[in-house]
Amino acid sequence: MTAKKCQGCGSTTGLRKYIYGMPDGPVEESKYLIGGCCITGNDPTHECIECGHQIFKKPNPDIIEFEGFRTH
Ligand SMILES: [Zn+2]
Repeated sequence: MTAKKCQGCGSTTGLRKYIYGMPDGPVEESKYLIGGCCITGNDPTHECIECGHQIFKKPNPDIIEFEGFRTH
């Protein structure tokens, strides 16, 4: 699996994953952004801090299936 790449500027280091709701503990700001506790149903999952490009969860069955294969 390759690293996520910003589709806006091509950066592989600028992307931060949004965390919604209350984090369980300290948040690594180099990896995450606090998205707040209000879920609108149209929330970005990632944002590039370098260009502001936001990535939204795609309603694509292939993506959802792929996510299911991921191990933690
Ligand atoms: Zn970017």
